[in-house]
Amino acid sequence: MLRLQVIAQNYDWGRLGEESEVGRLYGISSGNDVKPDVPYAELWMGTHPSGPSYVCDGDKEPELLREWLLKHPEALGENVVKQWQGELPFLFKVLSIAKALSIQAHPDKRLAEFLHLNQPHLYKDPNHKPEMALALTRFEALCGFVNPEELKEVLETVPEIRALLKEREVEMLLNVDPSKSGGTALQEAFTTIMTLEKETVAETLGELITRLKKEKQVRKLTLKEELALVLEKQYPDDVGVFASFFLNYIHLAPGEAVYLSANVPHAYISGECVECMATSDNVVRAGLTPKFRDTEILCSMLKYEQGLPDVLNGSLVSPYTRRYSPPFDEFEVDSLDLPEGKSLEFSAVSGPSIFLVFNGTGSIRSVEGKSFAVKRGDIFFQPAGNQFTLLAKSGVDASNGVSANGGKGVNTLRLFRAGKDDVPALEKKSVVKSTAVEIQVERVRQITTAAVLLSLDLLIDLTHKGKLRVKARVVF
Ligand SMILES: [Zn+2]
Repeated sequence: MLRLQVIAQNYDWGRLGEESEVGRLYGISSGNDVKPDVPYAELWMGTHPSGPSYVCDGDKEPELLREWLLKHPEALGENVVKQWQGELPFLFKVLSIAKALSIQAHPDKRLAEFLHLNQPHLYKDPNHKPEMALALTRFEALCGFVNPEELKEVLETVPEIRALLKEREVEMLLNVDPSKSGGTALQEAFTTIMTLEKETVAETLGELITRLKKEKQVRKLTLKEELALVLEKQYPDDVGVFASFFLNYIHLAPGEAVYLSANVPHAYISGECVECMATSDNVVRAGLTPKFRDTEILCSMLKYEQGLPDVLNGSLVSPYTRRYSPPFDEFEVDSLDLPEGKSLEFSAVSGPSIFLVFNGTGSIRSVEGKSFAVKRGDIFFQPAGNQFTLLAKSGVDASNGVSANGGKGVNTLRLFRAGKDDVPALEKKSVVKSTAVEIQVERVRQITTAAVLLSLDLLIDLTHKGKLRVKARVVF
């Protein structure tokens, strides 16, 4: 176990000072003062050059985690070294959101390489950035395109949007087969909105907001209409307010997670989450932002698929550990909740892990019998192949008679782990759906033995880095 020193990013959408989970964790972790008027948006744990973590080993000078890993490749495990050329494949974060983030999508590998080659000042690495957000509080986001029915409703109930589109585009959207995704019709309409002249956006948005404020006095606005008012206040004159009507507005409860593959449009709106992604910072933005917009690239790269995203609840891999395995090669995230006085054997995984102690106090004991105390705010790197025991401190500290958790009523030792186990993509969780039943199956081979199975569609994509990926759909 190596203790890490990490950095916080002060992007302007972050929560301020101690109101921010990121601010509070950063303060405890670094020992630095948390400034009340500074936004603490993201805590970064990993090797990305825009916010690298350092290894702290006793009295030695802190060393970049990336440099330490280059000297100790065995800490990544054989397969990670092979597949990611000796680099840590994931970047682990905590986010505290006060104000919506930009409407964005992350490029796939080929586009990321192209963007980095041509605009290295904007796209700082050549990597793709699949990501997953696990809610710590109630968490709101825009994610993927709404289904064709909902989009027709938008055209019928938001005349300002209808007026911005060409008559042909409206016709095409109204005639989309509800069982299919909009494809070209959706792409054309969305691109028209996103590429409008600034003045047209400002003027029409003014009309929409005036109408909604007036109608709010006589009727209850829909959640989307309320959201439009909030977003317009945060980003006046921004085309992103119109874009929000095209996207699913989702709410996650603590413990629920949503993952975003390449080219899926999204914007986090509010709340706090743990986030994990491939080691990359490539974001293509087109709305709700003062930053650079790459609207044309965004509109051409997007997946114009419609419908709600999958929400993950994690699956229990020990009595105290919930694992979230998105369909990406680079990482999985565990949430560990250990009640006071309990212990947990953490068996070795074949790749690297980063642990964040989120609540409580306890200790970690290695197989060699070495033990050290852990508390909220501690962050550790765990090399591949290491096994250890985690102990949650019991309620009363014998040495001074106070509650182990400072009497704050927090009685579990809570950790989050981002890591890379060696379960190949083929064996990773698949989400299996039918209209009436939704089952999550841990391993593809279990699907084939499911007793209720009547028929199985397999979609095999051999194009993904030459590897076999399986998507399964079960019809009951
Ligand atoms: Zn994102």
